[in-house]
Amino acid sequence: MQATMMDFPLTLAHIFERAGRLFPESEIVSRMPDKSLHRYKYADFYSRAQALIAALRKLGLKRGERVATLMWNHHVHLEAYFAIPCMGGVLHTLNLRLSPDDIAYIANHAQDRFLIVDDVLLPLYDKIRANTNFEKVIVVPLSRSSVPAGLENYETLISRPRPVRLPRLKEEDPAGMCYSSGTTGRPKGVVYTHRALVLHSLASALPDVMGIGNSDTVTPVVPMFHVNAWGIPFTAVMVGAKLAFPGPHLGAASLLDLYQSEQVTLTAGVPTIWAGILQALDHEPSRWKLSAGMRMVVGGAAAPESMIRAFDKFGLRVIHGWGMTETTPVAAVNYLKRGLESAVADEQYALRAKQGVPLPFVEVRAMTGQGEAPWNGTTMGELEVRGPWVAAGYHDLDSELDKWSEDGWFRTGDVVTIDARGYIKITDRIKDLVKSGGEWISSVDLENALVGHPKVAEAAVIAVSDPKWGERPLAVVVLKPGQSATQDELRGHLAPKFAKFWLPDAFEFVAEIPRTSTGKMLKAKLREQFKDWKPGGR
Ligand code: ADP
Repeated sequence: MQATMMDFPLTLAHIFERAGRLFPESEIVSRMPDKSLHRYKYADFYSRAQALIAALRKLGLKRGERVATLMWNHHVHLEAYFAIPCMGGVLHTLNLRLSPDDIAYIANHAQDRFLIVDDVLLPLYDKIRANTNFEKVIVVPLSRSSVPAGLENYETLISRPRPVRLPRLKEEDPAGMCYSSGTTGRPKGVVYTHRALVLHSLASALPDVMGIGNSDTVTPVVPMFHVNAWGIPFTAVMVGAKLAFPGPHLGAASLLDLYQSEQVTLTAGVPTIWAGILQALDHEPSRWKLSAGMRMVVGGAAAPESMIRAFDKFGLRVIHGWGMTETTPVAAVNYLKRGLESAVADEQYALRAKQGVPLPFVEVRAMTGQGEAPWNGTTMGELEVRGPWVAAGYHDLDSELDKWSEDGWFRTGDVVTIDARGYIKITDRIKDLVKSGGEWISSVDLENALVGHPKVAEAAVIAVSDPKWGERPLAVVVLKPGQSATQDELRGHLAPKFAKFWLPDAFEFVAEIPRTSTGKMLKAKLREQFKDWKPGGR
């Protein structure tokens, strides 16, 4: 007899079975394409996901095989989230915002066998159909009851619910797969194991991370096709929270209506979404009655301090976090450590705008050419991470081996400082840093300060080449509607906050800043646009 602990695998199957048994009454709400709200309970989710398991078995899906989804955030996507991995398959969420070429490349590279697609996304499927080779295409009839000839109807497929026995899975088995959105080069596939997703869910539920509990109502605005909506569907189902999905409707008014009608207590998404919400609240401050203290997890790009302050005025609490596709994704989250509640407001805000402290079991270091940077809050280095939910390699790709250090850390490509308390601050992506006269200038710091100016809606700072200094910062600015501003005004706004050599040489006003499918600024495109920029004229 073994005298230690039982050998009990950490798999999503446990989370799924537990949810079906313990939380049948918890509700799941989804906004449908016609804007109506679909409602059902965990009991329905559980039996429909079981029916999907039976259907996928009948179609011949074998262990380790990939099933792709091309879907918005809603209850049917959640059924796929659990049914596919719990039967031993691999859930591969396709990012519908990528170009059809990229989507086809990703589906082929992952060798996806089946596709589950929302009927409202069939026009997109038509664009990838010729270049892909799915054996079966299963259509979810969200907006109409019939599906085109030759394709399977999801509802017909699962129409005879029956209890199924789940296979015995190992915790190292693959459960899901995501491709990084390709801010840097071709998309690269990351395969998540059951163990990684389970540990990530447990850590995400901790009070100092997202603090998701049974009494929460949770709205992931971050798409389920982008790093598993930051793992929130798994975490929420693990604790039996109520879920309120936005479906395809991500406009500010529609989200605020959902927050109000469902009294949402926790929501999550990228800063561009919150900028829109803030504008709507500023415009009509008394239109929505939200749950007091609603928490908003912000990540994917930096949450400017001005945004955190502005939401506080509405009684809404921004929680800033950092992560990547390669880190499942949550690796650091911001909360004020003991003793800091009594710090002056300005210090608290400056801290809350940092990307937070690493989660338990995530280890971090900042590497410079001379080795590990001290945790002093000023020395910049490349952030390296390791931990049980950090990728050890990319799917079927040997060319990126230098992303891992010889001693086994993942090189994130993000440049950071880490302060004495362990708060990480992202100062740039390595390739976006501005190097002027041998000194690094953080474009992110300048951008965050610029969007703190009342007339500025968005700002990107890029390097332009300079004969004397090598590179100099150029600020590309989008003003709020109806506003005008001068270069001197913006420089004057930055001057008290930065060393003189950090101040951008010029400010270019544009109508919009190009962004990636996941809301990150496409600086490579801006650098291309301004590559022939010269001071005083082009
Ligand atoms: P991609 O590399 O395709 O953009 P991800 O969507 O995985 O892939 O993005 C991860 C990157 O997003 C991080 O490396 C970092 O540069 C950026 N990021 C994520 N969260 C934050 C944050 N809170 N502040 C600043 N940057 C962030």
